[in-house]
Amino acid sequence: MSKSVRRTAICLAALLGVALGLSAQAATVSSGSATHHHAVRSGHRGLYGGKTWEGKEHVFETVFTPDGLRIYMFTPERTPASLEGASGTVTLKFKDGSTKELTLAPQGPASGDKTIYYCTMHPDVMKTEAGKCPKCNMDLVAQNRFFGAADLSQAKPGTVTAEIHLTGLGGNEKEVTFTEVNGHGRNGNPKTEGTSSGGAKS
Ligand SMILES: [Zn+2]
Repeated sequence: MSKSVRRTAICLAALLGVALGLSAQAATVSSGSATHHHAVRSGHRGLYGGKTWEGKEHVFETVFTPDGLRIYMFTPERTPASLEGASGTVTLKFKDGSTKELTLAPQGPASGDKTIYYCTMHPDVMKTEAGKCPKCNMDLVAQNRFFGAADLSQAKPGTVTAEIHLTGLGGNEKEVTFTEVNGHGRNGNPKTEGTSSGGAKS
């Protein structure tokens, strides 16, 4: 086993461990609850180190960075979900009362971004490096995300609120609205709330 293969295997194991842990947690919380999408669990760390918000059919991870924010979409099983056809807007509200509107469109990761590669046929196959799917030998694809550019380099934890509205999502949950507060610091006091709307009720 070469060094890089071994490293990939270790990274993957860690990644899956996180995913499995989150899934187990979600299953526990949602079992027996008719309104589980309102029982929002805030502050959970996602695969990219951000906070997750659960809609009815999608899970969103928001990552605040000094250059803006990134929003990743997952299935309830915490595998990457396609952003094809999706778009969105974000209203950033700063502590001084100023606001900034961002328009979101799906895009691939920038160089230097943490990236998860997955198989579109077998989305449970997730790796931190490009490669082939061990099940079907297809090339793994990088997970797309929304990116909204904003200078957040001076923003202290808990001082920026992002009101996020996404449309054109797949499945029955066509759009979602939720709010995230930046909270990278340990005392960030992150708070998450939101609503989800779509088609047929399950
Ligand atoms: Zn595959």
